[in-house]
Amino acid sequence: MNDAIILASRTVFAYPSMEHQRRHGPRGYTGYRAYKPWLRDEFAFQCVYCLSRERWCPNGHEEFAVDHTIPQAAAPDEACDYDNLVYACQSCNRNRQNTELPIDPGECRWPRI
Ligand SMILES: [Zn+2]
Repeated sequence: MNDAIILASRTVFAYPSMEHQRRHGPRGYTGYRAYKPWLRDEFAFQCVYCLSRERWCPNGHEEFAVDHTIPQAAAPDEACDYDNLVYACQSCNRNRQNTELPIDPGECRWPRI
């Protein structure tokens, strides 16, 4: 992954050089959507892919979703595994659909809080 997204010769988003260390580890929910409040805090109210923030969206967190790093179709047993879940805007979540990521975004760099 690049260290930054460059647009018109200026840095738009800067990614930290440290890997994200999960701060939460909730377990026991039977539906993956129940993890959304944890993921909002875990990923600083930002989409893990495009880094858009809830506050930039007219409907705030309603425009964000719980995304599976390993799609549910590929790993139904991990559908409610917190370590397989990330916070993503609806656009990124929709565009990704059932595509497997080449890397786990939870194991790469994230914005610092
Ligand atoms: Zn996004």
